[in-house]
Amino acid sequence: MRIDVLSIFPSYFDGLTLSLLGKAQDAGILDLSVRDLRDWTHDRHRTVDDTPYGGGAGMVMKPEPWGLALDEVTAGSEHPTIIFPSPAGEVFTQKTARELSVRDHLVFGCGRYEGIDERVFEYAASLGEVRLISLGDYVLNGGEVATMAMVEAIGRLIPGVVGNPDSLVEESHEDGLLEYPSYTKPSVWRERAVPDVLLSGNHGAIAAWRREQQLERTRRRRPDLLRAADADA
Ligand code: SAM
Repeated sequence: MRIDVLSIFPSYFDGLTLSLLGKAQDAGILDLSVRDLRDWTHDRHRTVDDTPYGGGAGMVMKPEPWGLALDEVTAGSEHPTIIFPSPAGEVFTQKTARELSVRDHLVFGCGRYEGIDERVFEYAASLGEVRLISLGDYVLNGGEVATMAMVEAIGRLIPGVVGNPDSLVEESHEDGLLEYPSYTKPSVWRERAVPDVLLSGNHGAIAAWRREQQLERTRRRRPDLLRAADADA
């Protein structure tokens, strides 16, 4: 998969390829490049923002650098998906990550200040599929952290990125439930024992216990997930 990120703070992404995504990059599974939006400015100050029409607080990202950057990174790409992180977008979920993990080319446009001139989203739709995606109902300073979260969630679903694909199947949100609790050695630590059933060797009983734990945990911490599953049924 090819991923292009456009940002005025490209160094934010230096840590993204330290672990599994770095290995995927080395193995040629992932082709991630982070570009500085200011490279598409043409004035001495490399200006990317200006005051808002109609007045109001803050600055708005100018359309010109975005247009040139999007033209260049999507040139020759057949079906790019252009994602703009935005608190006003659809909320990112595991389902979104799975859907995007099978695309050939993702472009992330990281906003700053009060956001990006609205016409950029309209223009981007002439180059590919546009998605405005929110990490959650709160406001960040810029799209960089949201992009990193999305790239990591999407990237780990690409075949070959996570060593053992079985470890993806049972994770939280894969089947609409939270994951069951996990334990490792020692079997007793600071007077806290691992549940007996996990030491029993009875795989049927272990699977039943884990399922019950998933349901109980989801009911207690995230009842909204169970309600959503009921509504879908
Ligand atoms: N004025 C905008 C609004 O009220 O919707 C918020 C702008 S925010 C300060 C600057 C940038 O941070 C946004 O353009 C977006 O790229 C990013 N951002 C902020 N919160 C986000 C969130 N919850 N999810 C994804 N991106 C977010």
